Amino acid sequence: MTRTILHVDMDAFFAAVEQLRRPELRGKPVVVGGSGNPHSRGVVSTASYEARAYGIHSAMPLRTAFNKCPHAVFLPVDFSAYGAASRQIMAILREYSPLVEPLSLDEAFLDASSRPEVPRALAEEIRRRIKDDTGLTASIGIGPNKLLAKIASGLHKPDAVTEITPDTTTAVLRDLPATVLWGVGPKTAARLEQTLGVRTVGDLQRIPLAQLQELLGPRWGEDLYRTCRGEDDSPIVTDWEPKSLSRETTYQYDTRRRETIIATISALAADVVGDLHDEGYRGRTVTVKIRYRDFRTHTRALTLPEPINDGDTIRQTAVALLDRFALDRPVRLVGVRVSGLVKTGNGKQETGNAEP
Ligand SMILES: [Mg+2]
Repeated sequence: MTRTILHVDMDAFFAAVEQLRRPELRGKPVVVGGSGNPHSRGVVSTASYEARAYGIHSAMPLRTAFNKCPHAVFLPVDFSAYGAASRQIMAILREYSPLVEPLSLDEAFLDASSRPEVPRALAEEIRRRIKDDTGLTASIGIGPNKLLAKIASGLHKPDAVTEITPDTTTAVLRDLPATVLWGVGPKTAARLEQTLGVRTVGDLQRIPLAQLQELLGPRWGEDLYRTCRGEDDSPIVTDWEPKSLSRETTYQYDTRRRETIIATISALAADVVGDLHDEGYRGRTVTVKIRYRDFRTHTRALTLPEPINDGDTIRQTAVALLDRFALDRPVRLVGVRVSGLVKTGNGKQETGNAEP
């Protein structure tokens, strides 16, 4: 199941909204932050591209920004104006897919997997549409998952579309700083460099799993081992669609025994069906996930004609999907997910509407 994820990131959003509503500020260095007084405490929220040319960036103290560019226009943060522009942009995105996950006022993921267009053509259309309707520019990244889509949108800013495909992932990631990866902030980056000599994502790919786990702990080490290879299977989380329901398990000892894996899939499917009944959903798409010993993760999915919560059918569907995997390597983890959820109306509780 190949996914197409777009990461839409508005360019210098707060400053761009200010320049849009005050044409006299266009082309000038504009710094939005705090109360707008550059001599007060507080930090830069957004600097216009003209201000960035002076070395001003987000999170910089306003006083420092003032020293770098005293003639910049300093403005207070006006969340109600930015919120209104943000709602307009999110509404545009939802015309293209119901699966939109806002990350902040100026950023969102959009799942375009079921769109008929070539991803780049779709992204170009969305970019133009945002510009025509709002007067604001966006940079859009395209990738097979959220991680790569977000990295892609940052590669060419502003007002650009950038795509990372499975074929280009290795080459694109190789020379990027490790800080492009989720969870690698300045502190972790410094630790990686001091202890392992790692600066780039390519450097990180050469570090064995055990060494990463030793440095960062088992869970985080494993996460980083996967993300530095561009692997990410996190779902789009919307604020009105229920999430998928899933269960997964990691074997204590990797296995390639088919009977063992079938038993695991059956048990996980039964757990998911229990969750569907408890929470009052039927689901339409059954997905099985297999992670091999080498951490390659594959998923296979089948969409049923209509949403169901029947235990036997879901279990049989999941087990049948196993035939579509090559069991040529030891398996480390198995997961079962049911998505495309609809309310049955007789659940014990309302669930799942996670808003980041
Ligand atoms: Mg932005």
